[in-house]
Amino acid sequence: MVFGRLTGLMSNDIAIDLGTANTLIYVKGRGIVLNEPSVVAIDRATEKVLAVGADAKAMLGRTPTGIDAVRPMRDGVIADFERTEELLRKLILKVQTRRFLVKPRVIVCVPSGITEVEKRAVRDSVEHAGARDTFLVAEPIAAAIGVGLPVERPTGNMVIDIGGGTTEIAVMTLNGIVNDTSIRVGGDKMDEAIMQYVKRTSNLLIGDQTAEQIKIRIGSAHSADEHREMEVKGRDLIGGIPNTVTITSGQVREALQEPIGAIVAALHQSLEETPPELASDIVDRGIVMTGGGALLRGMDQLLRDTTHLPIRVADGALSAVVLGAGKILDDLVQFEKVLMRST
Ligand code: ADP
Ligand code: MG
Repeated sequence: MVFGRLTGLMSNDIAIDLGTANTLIYVKGRGIVLNEPSVVAIDRATEKVLAVGADAKAMLGRTPTGIDAVRPMRDGVIADFERTEELLRKLILKVQTRRFLVKPRVIVCVPSGITEVEKRAVRDSVEHAGARDTFLVAEPIAAAIGVGLPVERPTGNMVIDIGGGTTEIAVMTLNGIVNDTSIRVGGDKMDEAIMQYVKRTSNLLIGDQTAEQIKIRIGSAHSADEHREMEVKGRDLIGGIPNTVTITSGQVREALQEPIGAIVAALHQSLEETPPELASDIVDRGIVMTGGGALLRGMDQLLRDTTHLPIRVADGALSAVVLGAGKILDDLVQFEKVLMRST
């Protein structure tokens, strides 16, 4: 007991949700200490990293020549290993406020479809950043543990996580994933769809940050959602000068039809592939939605309407994954079975 407390003080084990849009870090005994966009700003000439996280995101789309602000995991997988490593290293350093006698153990949540090469890359970068041991956990399992689902029991648990780059739908039981459907459609595709729509219907060019703002403020997935409007600034396609137009929630719903349709189709596919016994558990117990995309207005209602299943958005949908990883960190012995094996 005393020994456990001492090692607890000497090390600072951490859990990381390395998301395509946001990276969250949980430190044992302190809770969630960092939540920043997964963005890196680089000086093109020297290849030096100028900023990471929120500081780098502020530069996206408005960098002076010579600076690149990139999202190294944009498409749901690690598109740029080196920059992902830089991001991880800088963020881990940021949360290490004190010098510890023992190097930390680190849990990193990764998409369940990650390749061996990507696993290696994540491990290497975490170890370069000073970790003693690295454990990988599949995101859907961490999300399920984070929202308190009993993944260790022989019942079916289902989570749909709508992130920036991907939507992952997983059915879990006995600490493992039985069925996993992952599509490269998430919040980013929604933003792109809004940009295209505004360009097509209003001849206005907008950036992806503006598109994201539109989605978050007036976005809607269900026709029963309350009507909202927003003034949008951009560059007029014909005159080439700045212009303002009004966009309605109905228009955004129309713009989002394709990406939302893809998510609905993936959910149906996953349900069809679920073994009958587990499917009956899901009818009783329902489905939990996590990730930022779960917060899109009317998304839960739309999924309830199309599946007739009990579906709810998790409290703290954006932090479910890192909280789950934190719970695993707090009890590595109990949760040993959920850790990913890698060759
Ligand atoms: P990841 O795990 O891939 O990093 P997150 O779970 O952090 O992704 O979700 C980020 C995505 O959620 C972004 O595309 C963001 O625009 C979107 N998002 C965040 N809040 C909302 C909201 N209220 N409505 C719709 N989308 C949202
Ligand atoms: Mg995520």
